[in-house]
Amino acid sequence: MVTGGSSGIGLATVRMLLTSGANVAFCARNKERLYSVANELKQEFGTNKVFVSAFDILDEIAVTDFAENIKTKYGRVDLLVTNAGQGRVSTFESTTNGDWREEFDLKLFSQIYPIRAFQLMLEKAKGSIVAVNSLLAYQPEPHMVCTSAARASVQSLLKSLSIEFAPNVRVNSILLGLIISGQWKRRFESREDRAITFEAWLKKLAQEKNIPLQRLGNPDEAAAAILFLGSSSAGYITGAQIDISGGLSKTI
Ligand code: NDP
Repeated sequence: MVTGGSSGIGLATVRMLLTSGANVAFCARNKERLYSVANELKQEFGTNKVFVSAFDILDEIAVTDFAENIKTKYGRVDLLVTNAGQGRVSTFESTTNGDWREEFDLKLFSQIYPIRAFQLMLEKAKGSIVAVNSLLAYQPEPHMVCTSAARASVQSLLKSLSIEFAPNVRVNSILLGLIISGQWKRRFESREDRAITFEAWLKKLAQEKNIPLQRLGNPDEAAAAILFLGSSSAGYITGAQIDISGGLSKTI
Protein backbone atom coordinates (compact mmCIF):
# COMPACT_ATOMS: atom_id res chain seq x y z
CA MET A 1 0.00 0.00 0.00
CA VAL A 2 1.45 3.35 -1.08
CA THR A 3 -0.17 6.63 -0.02
CA GLY A 4 0.15 9.37 -2.66
CA GLY A 5 0.93 6.95 -5.49
CA SER A 6 -0.15 8.97 -8.52
CA SER A 7 2.97 11.13 -8.95
CA GLY A 8 6.66 11.55 -8.11
CA ILE A 9 8.25 9.28 -5.53
CA GLY A 10 4.97 7.47 -4.76
CA LEU A 11 4.42 6.59 -8.42
CA ALA A 12 8.04 5.47 -8.87
CA THR A 13 7.58 3.21 -5.83
CA VAL A 14 4.30 1.80 -7.17
CA ARG A 15 5.99 1.01 -10.51
CA MET A 16 9.01 -0.61 -8.88
CA LEU A 17 6.81 -2.74 -6.61
CA LEU A 18 4.68 -3.87 -9.57
CA THR A 19 7.83 -4.70 -11.54
CA SER A 20 9.02 -6.82 -8.62
CA GLY A 21 5.75 -8.79 -8.83
CA ALA A 22 3.75 -7.30 -5.93
CA ASN A 23 0.07 -6.38 -5.98
CA VAL A 24 -0.09 -2.65 -5.26
CA ALA A 25 -2.83 -0.50 -3.78
CA PHE A 26 -2.48 3.27 -3.74
CA CYS A 27 -4.43 6.46 -3.20
CA ALA A 28 -4.32 10.19 -4.02
CA ARG A 29 -6.85 13.02 -4.01
CA ASN A 30 -7.10 13.96 -7.70
CA LYS A 31 -9.41 11.29 -9.15
CA GLU A 32 -8.71 12.01 -12.80
CA ARG A 33 -4.93 11.71 -12.49
CA LEU A 34 -5.19 8.70 -10.16
CA TYR A 35 -7.46 6.74 -12.53
CA SER A 36 -5.44 7.65 -15.58
CA VAL A 37 -2.21 6.44 -13.90
CA ALA A 38 -3.97 3.30 -12.60
CA ASN A 39 -5.36 2.45 -16.04
CA GLU A 40 -1.92 2.72 -17.63
CA LEU A 41 -0.43 0.48 -14.94
CA LYS A 42 -3.29 -2.04 -15.27
CA GLN A 43 -2.61 -2.32 -18.98
CA GLU A 44 1.08 -2.86 -18.36
CA PHE A 45 0.94 -5.16 -15.32
CA GLY A 46 -2.59 -6.65 -15.28
CA THR A 47 -5.94 -5.47 -13.95
CA ASN A 48 -5.76 -7.44 -10.73
CA LYS A 49 -2.32 -6.18 -9.72
CA VAL A 50 -3.48 -2.57 -9.20
CA PHE A 51 -6.11 -1.25 -6.79
CA VAL A 52 -6.80 2.45 -6.23
CA SER A 53 -9.14 4.81 -4.42
CA ALA A 54 -9.31 8.61 -4.51
CA PHE A 55 -9.37 10.29 -1.11
CA ASP A 56 -7.52 12.72 1.12
CA ILE A 57 -5.15 10.93 3.51
CA LEU A 58 -6.57 13.16 6.25
CA ASP A 59 -10.01 11.56 5.79
CA GLU A 60 -9.72 8.86 8.45
CA ILE A 61 -12.89 7.04 7.46
CA ALA A 62 -11.82 6.82 3.82
CA VAL A 63 -8.41 5.48 4.88
CA THR A 64 -10.03 2.82 7.09
CA ASP A 65 -12.52 1.85 4.36
CA PHE A 66 -9.72 1.44 1.83
CA ALA A 67 -7.80 -0.80 4.26
CA GLU A 68 -10.93 -2.97 4.65
CA ASN A 69 -11.36 -3.17 0.86
CA ILE A 70 -7.71 -4.16 0.43
CA LYS A 71 -8.19 -6.87 3.05
CA THR A 72 -11.17 -8.23 1.14
CA LYS A 73 -9.40 -8.07 -2.23
CA TYR A 74 -5.89 -9.29 -1.36
CA GLY A 75 -6.20 -10.67 2.18
CA ARG A 76 -2.89 -9.21 3.39
CA VAL A 77 -0.56 -6.22 3.38
CA ASP A 78 3.21 -6.68 3.61
CA LEU A 79 4.35 -3.09 3.14
CA LEU A 80 2.87 0.30 3.93
CA VAL A 81 4.60 3.31 2.38
CA THR A 82 3.43 6.56 3.98
CA ASN A 83 4.33 9.05 1.28
CA ALA A 84 1.33 11.36 0.65
CA GLY A 85 1.90 15.02 1.37
CA GLN A 86 3.80 18.13 0.43
CA GLY A 87 6.11 20.71 1.99
CA ARG A 88 5.25 24.26 3.03
CA VAL A 89 7.57 27.16 2.26
CA SER A 90 7.22 29.81 5.00
CA THR A 91 9.31 31.61 7.61
CA PHE A 92 8.25 32.05 11.24
CA GLU A 93 7.05 35.55 10.37
CA SER A 94 4.84 34.39 7.51
CA THR A 95 3.44 31.28 9.25
CA THR A 96 0.10 31.83 10.99
CA ASN A 97 -1.14 29.73 13.91
CA GLY A 98 -3.58 28.15 11.47
CA ASP A 99 -0.68 27.24 9.13
CA TRP A 100 1.18 25.60 12.02
CA ARG A 101 -1.86 23.50 12.93
CA GLU A 102 -2.48 22.55 9.31
CA GLU A 103 1.14 21.52 8.79
CA PHE A 104 1.34 19.39 11.95
CA ASP A 105 -2.03 17.87 11.09
CA LEU A 106 -0.84 16.85 7.62
CA LYS A 107 2.59 15.57 8.63
CA LEU A 108 1.46 13.60 11.69
CA PHE A 109 -1.94 12.30 10.64
CA SER A 110 -0.72 11.30 7.16
CA GLN A 111 1.30 8.79 9.21
CA ILE A 112 -1.10 8.04 12.06
CA TYR A 113 -4.29 7.28 10.06
CA PRO A 114 -2.78 4.79 7.57
CA ILE A 115 -0.55 3.19 10.21
CA ARG A 116 -3.57 2.62 12.46
CA ALA A 117 -5.70 1.33 9.59
CA PHE A 118 -3.07 -1.17 8.36
CA GLN A 119 -1.44 -2.12 11.67
CA LEU A 120 -3.25 -5.44 12.20
CA MET A 121 -2.69 -6.59 8.64
CA LEU A 122 0.99 -5.65 8.84
CA GLU A 123 1.33 -7.52 12.14
CA LYS A 124 -0.21 -10.65 10.65
CA ALA A 125 2.08 -10.51 7.64
CA LYS A 126 5.16 -9.54 9.73
CA GLY A 127 5.43 -6.67 7.32
CA SER A 128 6.95 -3.25 7.48
CA ILE A 129 6.32 0.47 7.25
CA VAL A 130 8.51 2.86 5.28
CA ALA A 131 7.77 6.54 5.80
CA VAL A 132 8.84 9.13 3.27
CA ASN A 133 10.27 12.01 5.26
CA SER A 134 12.71 14.83 4.67
CA LEU A 135 16.25 15.73 5.68
CA LEU A 136 14.60 18.83 7.19
CA ALA A 137 13.75 16.62 10.17
CA TYR A 138 17.42 16.73 11.24
CA GLN A 139 18.55 19.79 9.32
CA PRO A 140 15.84 22.45 9.69
CA GLU A 141 15.71 25.39 7.30
CA PRO A 142 14.28 28.79 8.33
CA HIS A 143 12.37 29.19 5.05
CA MET A 144 10.51 25.93 5.81
CA VAL A 145 10.14 26.44 9.55
CA CYS A 146 6.92 24.55 10.25
CA THR A 147 7.60 21.72 7.79
CA SER A 148 11.01 21.19 9.46
CA ALA A 149 9.49 21.06 12.96
CA ALA A 150 6.70 18.72 11.85
CA ARG A 151 9.20 16.45 10.04
CA ALA A 152 11.25 16.13 13.25
CA SER A 153 8.18 15.06 15.20
CA VAL A 154 7.41 12.41 12.56
CA GLN A 155 10.88 10.90 13.13
CA SER A 156 10.16 10.81 16.87
CA LEU A 157 6.83 9.08 16.25
CA LEU A 158 8.46 6.50 13.95
CA LYS A 159 11.18 5.74 16.49
CA SER A 160 8.56 5.06 19.18
CA LEU A 161 6.56 2.87 16.80
CA SER A 162 9.63 0.86 15.81
CA ILE A 163 9.87 -0.21 19.46
CA GLU A 164 6.15 -0.63 20.14
CA PHE A 165 5.57 -2.65 16.94
CA ALA A 166 8.66 -4.87 17.33
CA PRO A 167 9.26 -7.69 16.69
CA ASN A 168 6.39 -8.09 14.23
CA VAL A 169 6.46 -4.90 12.18
CA ARG A 170 9.62 -3.02 11.18
CA VAL A 171 9.36 0.78 10.94
CA ASN A 172 11.88 2.79 8.91
CA SER A 173 12.07 5.97 6.90
CA ILE A 174 13.86 7.68 4.07
CA LEU A 175 15.03 11.26 4.42
CA LEU A 176 14.89 13.14 1.16
CA GLY A 177 16.92 16.08 0.03
CA LEU A 178 15.73 17.43 -3.31
CA ILE A 179 14.10 14.85 -5.58
CA ILE A 180 12.61 15.75 -8.98
CA SER A 181 8.83 15.36 -8.66
CA GLY A 182 5.48 17.11 -9.01
CA GLN A 183 6.44 19.44 -6.16
CA TRP A 184 9.48 20.79 -8.01
CA LYS A 185 7.54 21.00 -11.30
CA ARG A 186 4.98 23.18 -9.51
CA ARG A 187 7.74 25.46 -8.17
CA PHE A 188 9.25 25.65 -11.69
CA GLU A 189 5.85 26.78 -13.05
CA SER A 190 5.94 29.81 -10.74
CA ARG A 191 9.59 30.75 -11.60
CA GLU A 192 10.51 34.37 -12.23
CA ASP A 193 12.79 33.73 -15.25
CA ARG A 194 10.19 32.55 -17.80
CA ALA A 195 12.87 31.84 -20.46
CA ILE A 196 14.76 29.19 -18.47
CA THR A 197 14.18 25.48 -19.30
CA PHE A 198 13.28 22.91 -16.62
CA GLU A 199 16.70 21.22 -17.00
CA ALA A 200 18.61 24.52 -16.67
CA TRP A 201 16.43 25.52 -13.71
CA LEU A 202 17.20 22.20 -11.94
CA LYS A 203 20.92 22.64 -12.59
CA LYS A 204 20.84 26.15 -11.12
CA LEU A 205 18.90 24.89 -8.10
CA ALA A 206 21.49 22.16 -7.44
CA GLN A 207 24.25 24.80 -7.60
CA GLU A 208 22.41 27.19 -5.30
CA LYS A 209 21.80 24.41 -2.75
CA ASN A 210 25.43 23.21 -2.95
CA ILE A 211 24.44 19.59 -3.45
CA PRO A 212 27.71 17.60 -3.40
CA LEU A 213 26.51 15.22 -6.13
CA GLN A 214 25.63 18.36 -8.17
CA ARG A 215 22.10 17.37 -9.19
CA LEU A 216 18.66 16.65 -7.81
CA GLY A 217 17.72 13.02 -7.21
CA ASN A 218 15.36 10.98 -9.38
CA PRO A 219 12.18 9.44 -7.96
CA ASP A 220 13.56 5.98 -8.79
CA GLU A 221 16.53 6.60 -6.50
CA ALA A 222 14.14 7.22 -3.60
CA ALA A 223 11.91 4.28 -4.59
CA ALA A 224 14.91 1.89 -4.64
CA ALA A 225 15.64 2.72 -0.99
CA ILE A 226 11.97 2.25 -0.07
CA LEU A 227 11.94 -1.18 -1.70
CA PHE A 228 15.14 -2.16 0.09
CA LEU A 229 13.81 -1.12 3.53
CA GLY A 230 10.55 -2.92 2.82
CA SER A 231 12.23 -6.14 1.70
CA SER A 232 13.57 -9.12 3.64
CA SER A 233 17.11 -7.91 2.80
CA ALA A 234 16.46 -5.25 5.48
CA GLY A 235 15.07 -7.85 7.90
CA TYR A 236 17.32 -6.70 10.79
CA ILE A 237 16.72 -2.98 10.24
CA THR A 238 14.10 -1.10 12.24
CA GLY A 239 13.88 2.40 13.69
CA ALA A 240 16.40 3.51 11.06
CA GLN A 241 16.54 6.03 8.25
CA ILE A 242 18.32 6.29 4.93
CA ASP A 243 19.40 9.73 3.76
CA ILE A 244 18.82 10.25 0.03
CA SER A 245 20.10 13.74 -0.49
CA GLY A 246 23.12 13.60 -2.78
CA GLY A 247 25.33 14.44 0.20
CA LEU A 248 23.33 17.44 1.48
CA SER A 249 23.24 16.05 5.01
CA LYS A 250 25.71 17.76 7.35
CA THR A 251 25.41 15.26 10.21
CA ILE A 252 27.91 12.44 10.76
P1 NDP B 1 4.33 14.83 -5.85
O1 NDP B 1 3.55 16.07 -5.77
O2 NDP B 1 4.95 14.45 -7.15
O3 NDP B 1 3.47 13.60 -5.32
C1 NDP B 1 2.69 13.66 -4.17
C2 NDP B 1 1.67 12.53 -4.19
O4 NDP B 1 0.92 12.54 -2.98
C3 NDP B 1 0.65 12.69 -5.31
O5 NDP B 1 0.22 11.42 -5.73
C4 NDP B 1 -0.47 13.45 -4.62
O6 NDP B 1 -1.68 13.30 -5.35
C5 NDP B 1 -0.46 12.76 -3.27
N1 NDP B 1 -1.01 13.55 -2.16
C6 NDP B 1 -0.59 14.78 -1.74
N2 NDP B 1 -1.32 15.18 -0.70
C7 NDP B 1 -2.21 14.19 -0.44
C8 NDP B 1 -3.24 14.03 0.51
N3 NDP B 1 -3.52 14.98 1.43
N4 NDP B 1 -3.97 12.89 0.49
C9 NDP B 1 -3.72 11.93 -0.43
N5 NDP B 1 -2.75 12.03 -1.35
C10 NDP B 1 -2.02 13.15 -1.36
O7 NDP B 1 5.47 15.04 -4.75
P2 NDP B 1 6.68 14.13 -4.18
O8 NDP B 1 6.78 12.84 -4.90
O9 NDP B 1 7.85 15.01 -4.12
O10 NDP B 1 6.19 13.92 -2.69
C11 NDP B 1 6.17 12.68 -2.01
C12 NDP B 1 6.51 12.90 -0.55
O11 NDP B 1 7.89 13.25 -0.43
C13 NDP B 1 5.71 14.05 0.11
O12 NDP B 1 5.33 13.69 1.39
C14 NDP B 1 6.74 15.17 0.13
O13 NDP B 1 6.48 16.12 1.10
C15 NDP B 1 8.02 14.37 0.42
N6 NDP B 1 9.25 15.11 0.12
C16 NDP B 1 9.60 15.37 -1.18
C17 NDP B 1 10.77 16.04 -1.47
C18 NDP B 1 11.20 16.30 -2.86
O14 NDP B 1 12.25 16.96 -3.07
N7 NDP B 1 10.47 15.85 -3.87
C19 NDP B 1 11.65 16.51 -0.39
C20 NDP B 1 11.21 16.16 0.93
C21 NDP B 1 10.04 15.48 1.16
P3 NDP B 1 -2.93 14.36 -5.19
O15 NDP B 1 -2.31 15.73 -5.27
O16 NDP B 1 -3.83 14.01 -6.31
O17 NDP B 1 -3.51 14.07 -3.86
